[in-house]
Amino acid sequence: MRTLGRGHHRINVSTDYVDAGGEHLWVDVLRATLKHGLAPRAWTDHLQLTVGGTLSNAGIGGQAFRHGPQIANVHELDVVTGTGEMGTCSRDRRNDLFFAALGGLGQFGIITRPRIALESAPKQVRWVRLAYSDVVAFIRDQELLISKHAREAGFDYVEGQVQLNRTLTKGPKSTPFFSEADINRLAGLASETGSGAIYFIEAAMYYDETTAPSVNQKLGMVLAQLSFVPGFVFTKM
Ligand SMILES: Cc1cc2nc3c(=O)[nH]c(=O)nc-3n(C[C@H](O)[C@H](O)[C@H](O)COP(=O)(O)OP(=O)(O)OC[C@H]3O[C@@H](n4cnc5c(N)ncnc54)[C@H](O)[C@@H]3O)c2cc1C
Repeated sequence: MRTLGRGHHRINVSTDYVDAGGEHLWVDVLRATLKHGLAPRAWTDHLQLTVGGTLSNAGIGGQAFRHGPQIANVHELDVVTGTGEMGTCSRDRRNDLFFAALGGLGQFGIITRPRIALESAPKQVRWVRLAYSDVVAFIRDQELLISKHAREAGFDYVEGQVQLNRTLTKGPKSTPFFSEADINRLAGLASETGSGAIYFIEAAMYYDETTAPSVNQKLGMVLAQLSFVPGFVFTKM
């Protein structure tokens, strides 16, 4: 859908929303909004995807436990239906078309312009990975971190993944997050488990100049509730 609009659509940033073309890439929407200190509330991991493409699916990422998927963060849409009709829809206006087009796999119309909700872009972030060898502890901690209580006082972003011993050490690195020494420690941990698998919680805590003095204390309080393998916490600023 990259040719939609033939280059005529613009990304227009307002105070709490951005209008984009269905063909724009999320990474370009982010670049445009960051110039105003703003960012969409919900993301996918990979940003080289079109806005219309993920809004036709769901758009799930580490912020979904707070804000819902991307389709829950849209104010209105311009849609071209299968009969060639073009119109604007929202929760209050032609809402059958609005809710059908969002997550509709392109079956109910082509999204040409979504109006996407924005929030203040995080200024700084503590980025954390926690390693687990026990899947039950891993899932229990994920559920804790996305629970209502933790949403009020915990991370702003939470995801998880499973990694096999051989995928840690062989093939292209999926992330520059870990140093060589970290990878070797993690591979050692994975080789001790019967399955050769370990699990990661990936999380982020946002902060700014005002909250900077207390962010380490807040992070420490959240980590103290979790059951990752002792010593297997990795943090980046
Ligand atoms: C590397 C990679 C990482 C991903 N990561 C995530 C992730 O973290 N979270 C997540 O939720 N999803 C993720 N996805 C899945 C992604 O949401 C879907 O593949 C989505 O369709 C991608 O959009 P696209 O721009 O590639 O769409 P396309 O491949 O161009 O289109 C996919 C389908 O979406 C529909 N469509 C596309 N544009 C429009 C439009 N403007 N109006 C109506 N229908 C349209 C069409 O039915 C089309 O067949 C990932 C995909 C990839 C390739």
